[in-house]
Amino acid sequence: MERLQKVIAHAGVASRRKAEEMIAQGMVSVNGKVVKELGTKVTNSDRIEVNGVPLEQEGKRYFLLYKPRGVISAVKDDKGRKVVTDFFPHVKERIYPIGRLDYDTSGLLLLSNDGEFTNLLAHPRYEVQKTYIAKVQGIPSREALKKLETGINLEDGQTAPAKVKMKSLDKRKGNSIVEIIIHEGRNRQVRRMMEAIGHPVLKLKREQYGTLNLYGLNSGDSRELTPHEVKQLR
Ligand code: URA
Repeated sequence: MERLQKVIAHAGVASRRKAEEMIAQGMVSVNGKVVKELGTKVTNSDRIEVNGVPLEQEGKRYFLLYKPRGVISAVKDDKGRKVVTDFFPHVKERIYPIGRLDYDTSGLLLLSNDGEFTNLLAHPRYEVQKTYIAKVQGIPSREALKKLETGINLEDGQTAPAKVKMKSLDKRKGNSIVEIIIHEGRNRQVRRMMEAIGHPVLKLKREQYGTLNLYGLNSGDSRELTPHEVKQLR
Protein backbone atom coordinates (compact mmCIF):
# COMPACT_ATOMS: atom_id res chain seq x y z
CA MET A 1 0.00 0.00 0.00
CA GLU A 2 1.31 3.40 -0.94
CA ARG A 3 -0.08 6.90 -0.83
CA LEU A 4 -1.77 7.93 -4.04
CA GLN A 5 0.27 11.12 -4.50
CA LYS A 6 3.51 9.14 -4.10
CA VAL A 7 2.48 6.62 -6.74
CA ILE A 8 1.57 9.40 -9.17
CA ALA A 9 4.88 11.15 -8.50
CA HIS A 10 6.86 7.93 -8.94
CA ALA A 11 5.16 7.30 -12.26
CA GLY A 12 6.75 10.54 -13.44
CA VAL A 13 3.44 12.36 -14.04
CA ALA A 14 4.11 15.23 -11.63
CA SER A 15 5.99 16.17 -8.47
CA ARG A 16 4.43 14.95 -5.25
CA ARG A 17 3.19 18.46 -4.44
CA LYS A 18 1.61 18.83 -7.89
CA ALA A 19 0.07 15.37 -7.57
CA GLU A 20 -1.56 16.47 -4.31
CA GLU A 21 -3.06 19.47 -6.08
CA MET A 22 -4.36 17.27 -8.88
CA ILE A 23 -6.01 14.94 -6.37
CA ALA A 24 -7.62 17.84 -4.48
CA GLN A 25 -8.96 19.23 -7.75
CA GLY A 26 -10.67 15.93 -8.57
CA MET A 27 -8.45 15.08 -11.53
CA VAL A 28 -7.57 11.62 -10.22
CA SER A 29 -9.68 8.49 -10.12
CA VAL A 30 -9.05 5.08 -8.57
CA ASN A 31 -10.93 2.12 -10.03
CA GLY A 32 -13.28 4.47 -11.83
CA LYS A 33 -14.13 6.66 -8.81
CA VAL A 34 -12.82 10.20 -8.34
CA VAL A 35 -10.72 10.41 -5.17
CA LYS A 36 -10.07 13.75 -3.49
CA GLU A 37 -8.73 12.37 -0.19
CA LEU A 38 -4.95 12.99 0.04
CA GLY A 39 -4.19 10.11 2.40
CA THR A 40 -5.75 7.47 0.12
CA LYS A 41 -3.66 4.31 -0.06
CA VAL A 42 -3.45 2.27 -3.25
CA THR A 43 -1.89 -1.01 -4.31
CA ASN A 44 -0.39 -2.25 -7.57
CA SER A 45 -3.70 -3.74 -8.61
CA ASP A 46 -5.64 -0.45 -8.32
CA ARG A 47 -6.40 1.25 -11.64
CA ILE A 48 -5.36 4.87 -11.39
CA GLU A 49 -6.27 7.50 -13.95
CA VAL A 50 -5.18 11.11 -14.15
CA ASN A 51 -7.58 13.19 -16.25
CA GLY A 52 -8.95 9.93 -17.60
CA VAL A 53 -5.51 8.70 -18.70
CA PRO A 54 -4.29 5.45 -17.08
CA LEU A 55 -1.12 5.85 -15.08
CA GLU A 56 1.85 4.18 -16.71
CA GLN A 57 3.48 2.70 -13.62
CA GLU A 58 7.23 2.80 -13.61
CA GLY A 59 8.44 -0.72 -14.38
CA LYS A 60 9.25 -2.61 -11.21
CA ARG A 61 12.85 -3.79 -11.06
CA TYR A 62 14.44 -6.25 -8.65
CA PHE A 63 18.20 -6.82 -8.35
CA LEU A 64 20.57 -8.89 -6.31
CA LEU A 65 24.00 -7.42 -5.54
CA TYR A 66 27.05 -9.18 -4.11
CA LYS A 67 28.01 -6.16 -2.04
CA PRO A 68 31.74 -5.80 -1.43
CA ARG A 69 33.08 -4.60 1.93
CA GLY A 70 33.64 -0.85 2.09
CA VAL A 71 30.37 0.16 0.44
CA ILE A 72 27.46 2.03 2.04
CA SER A 73 23.95 0.53 1.80
CA ALA A 74 22.35 3.77 0.61
CA VAL A 75 21.70 5.71 -2.58
CA LYS A 76 24.07 8.53 -1.66
CA ASP A 77 26.68 9.33 0.95
CA ASP A 78 27.55 12.77 2.35
CA LYS A 79 31.19 11.80 2.65
CA GLY A 80 31.38 10.70 -0.98
CA ARG A 81 32.01 7.04 -0.20
CA LYS A 82 30.93 4.34 -2.62
CA VAL A 83 27.24 3.39 -2.33
CA VAL A 84 25.39 0.27 -3.50
CA THR A 85 23.55 2.04 -6.34
CA ASP A 86 26.95 2.89 -7.90
CA PHE A 87 26.92 -0.72 -9.11
CA PHE A 88 23.86 0.00 -11.31
CA PRO A 89 24.81 2.88 -13.63
CA HIS A 90 22.76 1.32 -16.45
CA VAL A 91 19.48 1.19 -14.45
CA LYS A 92 17.34 4.29 -15.03
CA GLU A 93 14.71 3.51 -12.39
CA ARG A 94 15.32 4.86 -8.89
CA ILE A 95 16.19 1.67 -7.07
CA TYR A 96 17.22 1.57 -3.42
CA PRO A 97 18.51 -1.14 -1.05
CA ILE A 98 16.06 -3.40 0.77
CA GLY A 99 17.42 -3.32 4.31
CA ARG A 100 21.09 -2.77 4.99
CA LEU A 101 24.42 -4.48 5.27
CA ASP A 102 27.08 -2.69 7.34
CA TYR A 103 29.85 -0.82 5.54
CA ASP A 104 32.26 -3.64 6.44
CA THR A 105 29.86 -6.51 5.72
CA SER A 106 29.90 -8.15 2.30
CA GLY A 107 27.28 -10.33 0.65
CA LEU A 108 23.78 -10.57 -0.66
CA LEU A 109 21.75 -7.39 -0.82
CA LEU A 110 18.51 -6.82 -2.74
CA LEU A 111 17.62 -3.56 -4.43
CA SER A 112 14.32 -2.52 -5.96
CA ASN A 113 12.05 0.40 -6.79
CA ASP A 114 9.00 -1.51 -5.52
CA GLY A 115 8.01 0.12 -2.22
CA GLU A 116 5.34 -2.42 -1.41
CA PHE A 117 7.75 -5.32 -1.89
CA THR A 118 10.33 -3.56 0.30
CA ASN A 119 7.85 -2.96 3.12
CA LEU A 120 6.68 -6.54 2.94
CA LEU A 121 10.19 -8.01 3.27
CA ALA A 122 11.12 -5.59 6.05
CA HIS A 123 8.08 -6.52 8.14
CA PRO A 124 9.09 -8.65 11.17
CA ARG A 125 6.12 -10.96 10.57
CA TYR A 126 7.63 -11.92 7.25
CA GLU A 127 10.64 -13.67 8.82
CA VAL A 128 12.93 -13.98 5.82
CA GLN A 129 15.80 -16.23 6.86
CA LYS A 130 19.23 -14.69 6.36
CA THR A 131 22.36 -16.79 6.50
CA TYR A 132 25.61 -15.17 7.60
CA ILE A 133 29.14 -16.52 7.68
CA ALA A 134 31.11 -14.89 10.47
CA LYS A 135 34.81 -15.14 11.14
CA VAL A 136 35.05 -14.61 14.88
CA GLN A 137 37.78 -14.13 17.41
CA GLY A 138 38.46 -17.22 19.54
CA ILE A 139 36.75 -20.57 19.50
CA PRO A 140 33.18 -20.46 20.85
CA SER A 141 32.23 -23.32 23.17
CA ARG A 142 29.12 -25.40 22.61
CA GLU A 143 27.46 -23.53 25.51
CA ALA A 144 28.25 -20.17 23.98
CA LEU A 145 26.66 -21.18 20.69
CA LYS A 146 23.69 -22.58 22.58
CA LYS A 147 23.03 -19.09 23.96
CA LEU A 148 22.60 -17.81 20.40
CA GLU A 149 20.20 -20.64 19.70
CA THR A 150 18.13 -19.77 22.75
CA GLY A 151 18.16 -16.00 22.32
CA ILE A 152 20.45 -13.31 23.65
CA ASN A 153 19.50 -10.30 25.70
CA LEU A 154 20.76 -7.30 23.76
CA GLU A 155 20.16 -3.68 24.74
CA ASP A 156 17.19 -3.51 22.33
CA GLY A 157 15.66 -6.71 23.69
CA GLN A 158 15.85 -10.47 23.44
CA THR A 159 16.83 -11.92 20.05
CA ALA A 160 14.72 -14.64 18.44
CA PRO A 161 16.37 -18.09 18.43
CA ALA A 162 19.11 -18.35 15.80
CA LYS A 163 20.37 -21.44 14.00
CA VAL A 164 24.10 -21.77 14.52
CA LYS A 165 26.74 -24.08 13.10
CA MET A 166 30.49 -24.21 13.67
CA LYS A 167 32.03 -24.45 10.18
CA SER A 168 35.75 -24.57 11.00
CA LEU A 169 38.30 -23.41 13.50
CA ASP A 170 41.93 -22.37 13.38
CA LYS A 171 43.60 -23.17 16.70
CA ARG A 172 46.89 -21.62 15.65
CA LYS A 173 45.35 -18.27 14.70
CA GLY A 174 42.74 -18.53 17.45
CA ASN A 175 39.68 -17.83 15.36
CA SER A 176 36.69 -19.69 13.91
CA ILE A 177 34.15 -19.60 11.13
CA VAL A 178 30.54 -19.74 12.32
CA GLU A 179 27.36 -19.93 10.26
CA ILE A 180 24.41 -18.13 11.80
CA ILE A 181 20.86 -17.93 10.47
CA ILE A 182 18.51 -15.23 11.75
CA HIS A 183 15.26 -13.73 10.52
CA GLU A 184 15.35 -10.43 12.36
CA GLY A 185 17.13 -7.47 10.89
CA ARG A 186 18.26 -5.27 13.73
CA ASN A 187 21.14 -2.88 13.39
CA ARG A 188 24.51 -4.73 13.53
CA GLN A 189 22.66 -7.70 14.97
CA VAL A 190 25.10 -10.51 14.19
CA ARG A 191 28.06 -8.42 15.36
CA ARG A 192 26.28 -7.60 18.62
CA MET A 193 25.18 -11.20 19.20
CA MET A 194 28.71 -12.54 18.73
CA GLU A 195 30.14 -9.76 20.89
CA ALA A 196 27.64 -10.70 23.61
CA ILE A 197 29.02 -14.25 23.81
CA GLY A 198 32.60 -12.94 23.90
CA HIS A 199 33.59 -13.68 20.30
CA PRO A 200 33.74 -10.44 18.32
CA VAL A 201 33.25 -10.64 14.57
CA LEU A 202 36.39 -10.13 12.48
CA LYS A 203 34.69 -10.53 9.12
CA LEU A 204 31.06 -10.89 8.09
CA LYS A 205 29.33 -12.00 4.91
CA ARG A 206 25.65 -12.61 4.11
CA GLU A 207 25.44 -15.75 2.00
CA GLN A 208 21.71 -16.27 1.68
CA TYR A 209 18.52 -14.27 1.79
CA GLY A 210 15.42 -16.46 1.82
CA THR A 211 15.76 -18.78 -1.16
CA LEU A 212 18.41 -16.62 -2.83
CA ASN A 213 22.16 -17.16 -2.70
CA LEU A 214 25.33 -15.75 -4.29
CA TYR A 215 25.92 -18.72 -6.56
CA GLY A 216 27.94 -17.79 -9.66
CA LEU A 217 28.62 -14.22 -8.56
CA ASN A 218 31.85 -12.50 -7.56
CA SER A 219 32.09 -9.56 -5.18
CA GLY A 220 30.69 -6.48 -6.97
CA ASP A 221 28.59 -8.53 -9.42
CA SER A 222 24.84 -8.12 -9.68
CA ARG A 223 21.93 -9.67 -11.55
CA GLU A 224 18.22 -9.07 -12.03
CA LEU A 225 15.89 -11.44 -10.17
CA THR A 226 13.68 -13.66 -12.28
CA PRO A 227 9.89 -13.18 -11.96
CA HIS A 228 9.81 -16.59 -10.28
CA GLU A 229 12.35 -15.49 -7.64
CA VAL A 230 10.33 -12.36 -6.92
CA LYS A 231 7.18 -14.43 -6.56
CA GLN A 232 8.90 -16.83 -4.16
CA LEU A 233 9.85 -13.94 -1.87
CA ARG A 234 6.38 -12.41 -1.82
N1 URA B 1 24.35 -8.23 11.13
C1 URA B 1 25.40 -7.40 11.29
O1 URA B 1 25.95 -7.29 12.36
N2 URA B 1 25.80 -6.70 10.22
C2 URA B 1 25.22 -6.77 9.01
O2 URA B 1 25.64 -6.10 8.06
C3 URA B 1 24.13 -7.64 8.88
C4 URA B 1 23.71 -8.36 9.97
